[in-house]
Amino acid sequence: MNRRKFVSGSLLSSAGLVTASGLLSFVAGKSNNISSGGQQVHNTDQAAFDFDLMKEVRKFRKIDAHIHVHLFDGPPEGNIDFADRLGIEKMVISRPAYEGVGTPGEFRKYNNQVLDAMKAYPDRFLGQFTLNPVFQKESLEEIARCVDLGMVGLKVYTQVKINDPLFYPVIEKMIDHKMIIHMHAHTQLGVGGYRMKYDTKIRPNTSIPEDFTDIAQRYPEAMFQYAHIGGGGDWEYACKSFVDYPNIYVDTSGSNNPEYMVDFAVQQLGEDRVFFGTDNCYYQSVGKILAANLSESQKKKVFFHNYNNILKKAGNHVD
Ligand SMILES: [Zn+2]
Repeated sequence: MNRRKFVSGSLLSSAGLVTASGLLSFVAGKSNNISSGGQQVHNTDQAAFDFDLMKEVRKFRKIDAHIHVHLFDGPPEGNIDFADRLGIEKMVISRPAYEGVGTPGEFRKYNNQVLDAMKAYPDRFLGQFTLNPVFQKESLEEIARCVDLGMVGLKVYTQVKINDPLFYPVIEKMIDHKMIIHMHAHTQLGVGGYRMKYDTKIRPNTSIPEDFTDIAQRYPEAMFQYAHIGGGGDWEYACKSFVDYPNIYVDTSGSNNPEYMVDFAVQQLGEDRVFFGTDNCYYQSVGKILAANLSESQKKKVFFHNYNNILKKAGNHVD
């Protein structure tokens, strides 16, 4: 017997209509508590059981602002499967140079994987290209090639910090194209005494909040996406750092989901600068927006409209 059947059964039993099979004990008190196998159910919770969670999930249109192909879920069919179940209409996909150096050969290969996925599911995937600005000429050529082939933004990783002068020509190109720059980011909490902000032994070129505010100030016309506040870093510190920088956005993706994280991001940054994203952590990423103490219209913005407004600038939005 599943939990739902058990509950509806318990309601019937409180009216004295059902045999006690499966019920270890029955207490018909004021709150009609029923315990069985250590499980306690209150009839006052009935509204919660009647609540159709998946209906709530599907009620909101969704654009996933941070998701990868060929990294965690195998071929793109893996992404589509999850997205279908959760009503995620569009996915902004990328394949950053997660491992390796990020040579031109590597980033072209990854971008081709994204392009192939876009071709296979043109209605579902919006592609972001990756590059490594150490290879300046090849990176600028890659932007031209990928934009020509219909890609909609840039996703970069830890090869070079976002505020390094090597990035300037790349950022200027992205301004021309009116496209967002989505940068992997971190603010280490200090597990084991390690703090990225002060000690950069691991991936020393990882961008931290100060790097974002530095570059956002230099290029106020550019749009920057601080990746995954749910990625395990100090999201409070990050959000507070960006309060006065209207061209820095955050996405809520990641598998670390402390209570109140989404609420806090919206409080600090306003309801227009927070994007829904999964980073391939699908259920929890939808759940944390639903569970946040936001109004219906704020949830709509976070799930869909905020990112769609970014896409609109270059005419790549969803109708
Ligand atoms: Zn990611």
